[in-house]
Amino acid sequence: MSAHLTTVAGVAVDTRHWIGGERVASTDTFTDVSPIDGAPLGEISRATASEAAAAVAAAKAAFPGWAATPRAERARLLHAVAAGVERRAEELALVETTDNGALLRSHRRGVMPRVAHNFRFFADRLLGLEHEDFTTRDHTNHVTWDPAGPCVLITPWNAPLMLATWKVAPALAAGNTVVLKPAEWTPLTASLLADIAAEAGLPPGVLNVVQGYGAEIGDALTGHPDVRRISFTGSVPTARHIAARAAANLTPLSLELGGKSPLLVFADADLDLAVDLAVEQYDNAGQVCLAATRLLVEEAVAEEFLHRFVAKASGLRQGDPREEGTDIGPTIHPRQLEKIDGFVQRARAAGARAVIGGHRGPGQYYAPTLLTGVRQDSEVVQEEVFGPVLTLQTFRTEDEAVALANDTRFGLAATLATGDRERADRVTARLVAGTVWVNCFFVRDLRAPFGGSRRSGVGREGDVWSFDFFCDLKNTVTAP
Ligand code: NAD
Repeated sequence: MSAHLTTVAGVAVDTRHWIGGERVASTDTFTDVSPIDGAPLGEISRATASEAAAAVAAAKAAFPGWAATPRAERARLLHAVAAGVERRAEELALVETTDNGALLRSHRRGVMPRVAHNFRFFADRLLGLEHEDFTTRDHTNHVTWDPAGPCVLITPWNAPLMLATWKVAPALAAGNTVVLKPAEWTPLTASLLADIAAEAGLPPGVLNVVQGYGAEIGDALTGHPDVRRISFTGSVPTARHIAARAAANLTPLSLELGGKSPLLVFADADLDLAVDLAVEQYDNAGQVCLAATRLLVEEAVAEEFLHRFVAKASGLRQGDPREEGTDIGPTIHPRQLEKIDGFVQRARAAGARAVIGGHRGPGQYYAPTLLTGVRQDSEVVQEEVFGPVLTLQTFRTEDEAVALANDTRFGLAATLATGDRERADRVTARLVAGTVWVNCFFVRDLRAPFGGSRRSGVGREGDVWSFDFFCDLKNTVTAP
């Protein structure tokens, strides 16, 4: 076996970059480690600024050809990538779980089909992309979505392939070329995606994958004058840094960032449903940007809610994410574990009570935790923990509920549990959030806009909004 291949869960994964249709190795490497048991998974090429620049150059060279490729052909190739994902879905699921510790059953049943759908959806959407011509005096206005150029896509570790393809698919559909930089804690499925894209017949340089540390190569990518779009999913501090780099070239940015979303439970709610929604927030060990980590419960039902919540949450099985019966896997990294525990212990020192959890589990696991007795202005209520840690606060009136929900610097999502449709409409209208779910959670249709308000992001992606971002819109006015 090549020195550049590693075998993970029985699947061969190339540890090098993918630049201009070729595998390129760096002299230096970093060790990728499984969060499940700390086992080393491979020595991954660790890019320097020069490999980052080479990837942008490859994307630039491939751009004219890809941009000129007829829409129908681009769509056909993206469907071929989707078919490749479907063919290798089981391998992708196994590798992703080993690399990031999220549940294998979720990867199998939800995530990998969704990854394929990302390609199919944007391929089809491309074909239907048009704006009706209209006249200005006697002139015809014709609007087109022109390809913009090389795009840099930077993604996090909590849903690696899902979040990468949510950007890669529309960027490629739009006629752009791409440099994808996956998170250094989860480099593997991006490498498999490069294989799949090559097998599908995507021309060299259209999709490039660079592995390495954001802190080391980020600037070379985001500050590059040939880059026409930057789409980033990750944390607020990194986004600030990237925005400053992008400012030098006025490169348009799409930022999908953190959250501190509320779940509002009104006394008129179906309480079992509300409890199910609350417990669902522990999915992926709470490492979900959209997670409704602030439970806001109407005082009249708070005691009963808490009682049922504890009963349900106590039944969660924490363990190996590869096992079918497991509900919660490990946290991604010892550093993340440390961070989560820091939040919890500081909250407890400030007077919070851990109704459940409040401590580490074995290895890299953290016990699902619910904190009560927290102050609205406290760190654990205001900052994103990104772990299985929820807080519970109560309210008496609708006004108070809305005020608590909106008292945050974030604005990614909100969830309501209520049996009163009019209340749902009233409250929804007052909430600051990119997505509001009423009596449901995590339902995401690609036809809907997705993004965050306030510090949760800049811009919206999904459906035509992805094309609006990834394209240069052009209006052609023709004289009669
Ligand atoms: P992070 O910001 O630390 O890293 C994200 C990516 O940015 C990684 O690929 C990293 O290598 C890269 N990066 C780091 N420094 C960089 C730099 N200077 N220049 C360019 N790139 C750089 O975030 P994370 O810890 O990996 O991810 C967790 C965060 O992502 C949480 O805040 C979470 O809420 C957010 N998130 C948001 C969404 C969303 O859709 N809104 C989805 C998932 C995760």
